[in-house]
Parts: sequence; C-alpha cells; structure tokens
Amino acid sequence: MSDAVLIDGKAFAAQLRENIGRRAAILKKQHGLVPGLAAVLVGENPASQIYVRNKEKQTIEAGMASVGRHLPADISEADLMAVVAELNANPTVHGILVQLPLPDHIAKKPIIEMINVAKDVDGLHPLNVGALSSGEEGLVPCTPRGCMMLLDDVLGDLTGMNAVVVGRSNIVGKPMAQLLLAANCTVTMAHSRTKDLPGLCRTADILIAAIGRPKMINGDWIKPGATVIDVGINRVEVQGDEESSKIRLVGDVDFDEANKVTGAITPVPGGVGPMTIACLLENTLIACCRQNGVDIPEA
Ligand code: NDP
Repeated sequence: MSDAVLIDGKAFAAQLRENIGRRAAILKKQHGLVPGLAAVLVGENPASQIYVRNKEKQTIEAGMASVGRHLPADISEADLMAVVAELNANPTVHGILVQLPLPDHIAKKPIIEMINVAKDVDGLHPLNVGALSSGEEGLVPCTPRGCMMLLDDVLGDLTGMNAVVVGRSNIVGKPMAQLLLAANCTVTMAHSRTKDLPGLCRTADILIAAIGRPKMINGDWIKPGATVIDVGINRVEVQGDEESSKIRLVGDVDFDEANKVTGAITPVPGGVGPMTIACLLENTLIACCRQNGVDIPEA
C-alpha cells in the first residue's frame, strides 16, 4: 500500500489562527470587544513555561489580549484561589486557563471548579463536562476539539464509523469519545486494563492514540486504510553520531510503520499539537461573544 495522507495540523492550525484573527478584528470593529485570555502558571516546570509562552504569543498575534499570571511554586492554594477569583471578576478576561500540572501541595479539583464556567476555555469545569456529555452548549476541551476539526477535514461525515480511543483522561480521551459519539461514530474507549488492545485497535476506522507511551501502536495494530490521530507527545532521547544525544518528540504511534498501512495519519510533531492552541484561541473568542451577548463573527 502507498504512503498515507499526511494530516498537516500545523498548516490547518495556521489557517485557523488567521481566521480567528479576522474574526477578532470584526469583533473589535463592530462591538469594541477584545477577547482576553489569562494564563495562570504556577512554578517553573520547563514544559509548562514553553506551552504558556506559546499560548501568550499566539494570543497576541491573533489580535487578542493576553493576561499572564506567573506565580511562585510555593503559592498557597488560598492565594491561587484569590488569583482565580480576581480573573473571574475581571471583565476584560474572557478565558482563564490554569496550566497543569499544579505543584503537589495544590489540589487541582477545587481550582478548576473555582473558574467561572463561562471562562473555562479548557472545558474542564464539571458543568462544561456535563454540557458536552448531554449535548448542550458549553466550552469543549481544546485538544479533542482540534482532533475533530482534522477528522472533519479529512473524512467529512463520520456517521457509522468505528472509532477507538486509547486513553481515558479527562482532558483528552473522555471528551474525544463524547465528540466522536456526537458525530455518530460507534465509539470504544480503551485504557491500560483493556484486553487484546491490538485486536481492538484493528477494528477501528478511526484510531485515536492519547496514551503517553512512545510508539506503542504498531503498524500491525492498524486496519488498512484507517485514519489515525496521534495525540501523544513523548520526549525521547536519541543518540547522535558522536557521543551526543538529543531529545526528539515522538507520538504514541510508530509513524513509519503506521504510514504504510493507514489511509491518513497525523505526524508528531506538526499534527494535533498546533491545533490545541488554535482551539484555545477560538474558545476564548467564543467565550467573549457569549459573555457579551453578541453573535460569533464569521470570516
Ligand atoms: P494521561 O496520562 O492522563 O492518560 C493516559 C491514558 O493512557 C490513561 O487513560 C491510561 O490508562 C492509558 N494508558 C497508559 N498506558 C497504557 C497502555 N499500556 N495501554 C493502554 N492504555 C494505556 O495522559 P493525557 O491524556 O493527558 O495525555 C496523553 C498523551 O497526549 C500524552 O503523551 C500527552 O503528552 C499528550 N497530549 C498532547 C496534547 C496535544 O496538544 N497534542 C494535549 C494533551 C496531551 P488508565 O486510565 O487505565 O491508566
């Protein structure tokens, strides 16, 4: 079989960001509104710092306002709550994201539940989780939303397709399954206790890998012609020519093997990753419109 279609999330996300920028400009011109995104970063986790910096940069590039709250690692839970309360009350902030993971001494649940549900652009508040599962209007987690956009682009109507989601986290696996179900797929969720995972994966017309295990899914786990969305981002060390080694990003799917079997596949990097921030910006734009009772502009 020839190589699969490469699903270019990087290019798709760049177009989406441009589109969001145009819509933000319309919002400003017609209503004087500038969507504002607040990123709360606690501590100095290097990966989190990079993510937050990228989010802030792309927010500004889209013509939106970025509000940074970079807090010390030893901040108390009460003080972090006070920061969230201040952002909840700030009318120029329409979206709040608290970068995870938080330091061990801070419980994630009360912080997420403290975020104003209308500003919860990560879609993690229980009311947004409930809205997604009952098909009501809410804010949808960014990574699965980005995956759905890519699937929609490459496959169109997903009705009747068998989708297998490997991974059941609140941020990726579970909302991904809900979105596929809403798109009329027959959905199976798999996890670390699933029996015969390779056999199950081979039943999938759409295979979503959100595991966090480098190259775990082999070519022979994949049904010929299937569409594979690799959410995994794993940092692996590769030996250089000399004694040097460097860090490379790989997905949960063995790309070279899968590429010979699938119909279409996302690469890592350059697949799902760029879609996540683009969807975060779009969620902020949507949240801004809803909070101000105006229609979401089209461009
Ligand atoms: P979690 O660690 O929260 O969840 C991982 C899931 O994978 C769990 O449900 C776990 O099962 C399952 N799993 C682990 N090992 C196996 C196994 N051997 N067989 C089957 N299932 C297994 O991770 P996240 O959902 O947060 O992230 C998943 C991956 O996606 C990571 O690589 C992360 O970096 C990446 N990611 C990428 C994003 C992007 O923008 N592209 C955004 C968010 C995450 P169980 O529940 O039974 O333990």
